[in-house]
Amino acid sequence: MSREVSIHDAQPGWPWPVRPRPIDGEATFSYMVRAACANGYESLRQLHTGVKSVDALYEGVRLSAPERQRLFGPHPSYWGGNDFALGLLPADFNHHFMRWCPICLRDSAHLRGQWMLKLCCVCSQHAIHLHDQCPVCGLVQRLERTDFERCACGARLAVAPVRRAAPSLVRVTRAIEASIFCKPETSTWPVLSAPDWLRLAGYLGQFSEAFQPARPGKIANLHHLEQATTLMTGVSQLLDDWPTHFHAVMAAIQNKAEASPSIRRAFGALYRVLYDDLRGDGFQFLRDEFERYLREHWWGVVCKRNRSFKSQTVADHPRVTLKHAAQQAGVAPATVRRLLQAELIPSDQFVFPSGRKVRSLHQDDLAQLATLANNCVTLSEAARQLVLPERRVRELIAGGIILPLVSRTHDKAAAWLIPKQVIQSLCFAGCAIFDASSSIAVGRLLRFWRLLDGEFIALVQAIVNRQLVTVATQSGMMPLGNVALDVSNVRNWLSSYRLASGPSMTIDQASQHLGLKQQVAYDLVRRGLLVTVKNQSSGSRVQREAIETFRSAYISLAEFSRHLQHSPRWVLQNTCATPVTGPSVDGCRQYFFRRSEAIPLMGNAVKQEKCHKD
Ligand SMILES: [Zn+2]
Ligand SMILES: [Zn+2]
Repeated sequence: MSREVSIHDAQPGWPWPVRPRPIDGEATFSYMVRAACANGYESLRQLHTGVKSVDALYEGVRLSAPERQRLFGPHPSYWGGNDFALGLLPADFNHHFMRWCPICLRDSAHLRGQWMLKLCCVCSQHAIHLHDQCPVCGLVQRLERTDFERCACGARLAVAPVRRAAPSLVRVTRAIEASIFCKPETSTWPVLSAPDWLRLAGYLGQFSEAFQPARPGKIANLHHLEQATTLMTGVSQLLDDWPTHFHAVMAAIQNKAEASPSIRRAFGALYRVLYDDLRGDGFQFLRDEFERYLREHWWGVVCKRNRSFKSQTVADHPRVTLKHAAQQAGVAPATVRRLLQAELIPSDQFVFPSGRKVRSLHQDDLAQLATLANNCVTLSEAARQLVLPERRVRELIAGGIILPLVSRTHDKAAAWLIPKQVIQSLCFAGCAIFDASSSIAVGRLLRFWRLLDGEFIALVQAIVNRQLVTVATQSGMMPLGNVALDVSNVRNWLSSYRLASGPSMTIDQASQHLGLKQQVAYDLVRRGLLVTVKNQSSGSRVQREAIETFRSAYISLAEFSRHLQHSPRWVLQNTCATPVTGPSVDGCRQYFFRRSEAIPLMGNAVKQEKCHKD
């Protein structure tokens, strides 16, 4: 039939000679083209010139209201405004380019309604990608046409290659189609309206572990099949294996974010999408998952002021501030801080630019916190319990006898925390019977005996190792300061300790101490006048005591003659004192006398001097 012989434009309201019926789910555009072609028009534009309105067209083909509802998608805008069902908007559709599934097109040469959606990029029935370019000449196919089967170059569009689509992409597409055509949804995915599905894809399709958009939802060129495919693939992957991938994206954002105690700031664009852009009830499942993620992974606390969260989320959040932890565990905040500083309880911290710190810890750790805190004492309490000055407790810490739970030196904590158990290990039962005349308490010993560096630690070790027998002054356990020891026992122990490990030096160092030439010191050692001890690791060593002993026993000729105010030569020739060693005695380079012989002479010499002067 040619345009010239058609009658319906001249006779509005008359039934058209050929009245094709719409196919279920057919694109409105596709049906109009088929109706136009069947009645001799060469294009929709030509039909529009004759018919003017969509209603007139539908009247001409006698389309009933239920039949009209079988159509989906827009008619060309020059036919007037579109009125979409389901709350969809013109921007959701393609108005200029055609997409198709080659297998569907082989079955029936009409356009399916869902292909008109910008975000539709796969055929859910055949699970393959849609096409929008001629398989031969590559021309992007425009909608405005009369033949859906062929490109302008003559190639058949149905022969376009078949490309399998990812199952998750097909599933999302099916879910969207189910929302449009009211098909039963078989997947476990949330039930969303068609516009919500499109919003979901638009806002979340760009989020992945590798990339998070700064301005989600602002996506250009969605009418390009490639762009739409990227976005739909993104959202399908995010929803696939729900909520694993969503959690991974949140973790990626959290890892990348600058430390902040603000959840809104830490999650930035995603937070805005979940609580602002997608605030509708349909998207609650996203927020539920976000809040579940926070419960498990948000290091900070969830502030009561945050009204966006469900009250349950705020109430159930397992992390508490240091202050609340102290309150709940019944422990002093300072003690909590020490335990956190020592990393005995895991915690997270944020430092504001002002220097203010926020610490948070997990509710599950509160019991452990209370146990640790209740089983510890401070340094001053430890000193009180051990009946020792704090200085001595510090010495025990430095000497490794007390191992604190929290250490000022290692943990840089503000104070020490010492386990009660350690204090108990420094309480002893008496083994020997008490005798007041021959016993001394450790506390008293520390006060009145002059112990050298390290000797207190050695003493405690000797008590712990039972080298020193503790004397019973009371029944039960005595704290270290009250532990009594047998005086002669301790004295013996101390002198042998000093002998074995007292401060010692090399012979060279001893010569410096004595103000002698090294050779002389070696000579004195050889003669046995300066006593050394053999040390396996460092050879012969001179103890401080030996130096003192030598000094008090011997005097050099030089010093002797200074006292006598005579030359050494005079002294050698004129005094009756006999040198114990010296060049003429045994070949030693220097003369030494016994002080016991020299001192009486020194007294006489002074008297003689006085007489001479008189
Ligand atoms: Zn298909
Ligand atoms: Zn072509």
